[in-house]
Amino acid sequence: MTDSEQPDGPSEQELLAQAADAGIHRLAIPTPFQVGRVNAYLIEDSPLTLIDSGPNSGKALDELEQALAARGHAIEDIGLLIVTHQHIDHFGLAAILARRSGAQVAALEGLAPYLRDFREATELDDRFAQEIMLRHGIPADVVIALRAVSASFRAWGSAVEVTRPLRDGEELRLRDRTLRALHRPGHSPSDTVFLDESRSILLSADHLIKHISSNPLLARPLGAGPDFADPRPRALIDYMASLERTREMDLALVLPGHGEPISDHVTLIDERFRMHRRRAEKIHGLIAAQARTAHEIAVELWGNVAVTQAFLTISEVLGHIDLLLDEGRVVERDAEEEIVRFEAA
Ligand SMILES: [Zn+2]
Repeated sequence: MTDSEQPDGPSEQELLAQAADAGIHRLAIPTPFQVGRVNAYLIEDSPLTLIDSGPNSGKALDELEQALAARGHAIEDIGLLIVTHQHIDHFGLAAILARRSGAQVAALEGLAPYLRDFREATELDDRFAQEIMLRHGIPADVVIALRAVSASFRAWGSAVEVTRPLRDGEELRLRDRTLRALHRPGHSPSDTVFLDESRSILLSADHLIKHISSNPLLARPLGAGPDFADPRPRALIDYMASLERTREMDLALVLPGHGEPISDHVTLIDERFRMHRRRAEKIHGLIAAQARTAHEIAVELWGNVAVTQAFLTISEVLGHIDLLLDEGRVVERDAEEEIVRFEAA
C-alpha cells in the first residue's frame, strides 16, 4: 500500500471544503525547492490571520497576493502572521508581509531569536551541519560544495521580528476561535502545530504530511552555541515522541504544510511508525554485515542521492541508528580520524 492510498476516505476537495467551512483556506504558494508548493493557510477571522507565508521570492509574493485577492483580501488586511517553524519555505516572506500590513508576528518563543538573527543563526546551522557531516564520513570536498549550495538558499529566507512569542500550550484568541500552540519538535527543533480547539482542526505544518514522511532533519538545538554537535541531537527520537502526542489527539482534520489535508491521522502516524521500524531493521542488517559510517550506509541505501542530499540522508540514517543504539543493538566507535563507525553490539 502506498502512502497516498486511503480507501474510501473523503476526497481532497471535500476536505478543503470542510476547512473552508471553518473559515480556513489553503493557499498553495510556489517554492524553488524540491518539495514543491508550500501551504499557507488564511483564517478568515478577526484579526485576519495567515499561517506561514511561503519563501522570500517575487513569484511567491505575487501568487500570495493573487490568492488573497481571490478571497477579497489584501496583504495590508492581515492582522496576525503565524510562523510554524524555522524552514525558509514557510517563513521567508514574513518580514515583507509584516512590514506591509503591520501584522503581529507570532511564533514559538524559542524560535524568536532565530528569526530575528536569521543570518547568524543559519551561519551556526551551517557549521553544525559541516561538523556532523565530516564526523559521519562525508568527504570534505562534498561538504564544501554543499555549504555553498546551502548559502545560496539563504536568499529565500529573511529575518523577521516576532512580536507575539508563544509558550508551548499557549492560546491565541481570535474572535471566532482559539488556536492553541503546541511544540512538536522533530522535523525541526521549532515545529509548532496549531489546534483550532472547538473544531478539532490541527494545522500541522511539516510535523505531519500525507504524501511524504517528514524528514527528521538533524539540526542545531534552538539557542545552542558553538559546542552544539556533541552530543548530537536525536531528531528521529524526538520526532517519534512528538508523533505519539499527536496520535493521541482527537482530530477531525489535519491541514499540513505541504500537500493534501489528512482525515485519518492515526492511520497515517501508524504507517510512519511502521516505515521507521522497517528502515531501522534494514540499517541494522547493513551494520551487522560490516561496521560502517552513516554516510556509507546512506550510499548503500540511496546511491548518488547520498552525495547530492548528503545532510538529509545522514540525518535519516543517524535517526534510525539512534533507535538501534537505544535498543542496545548497535554501538558507536570513533577510533580513526574522529570519523564515527557503527557496528553491531
Ligand atoms: Zn520544514
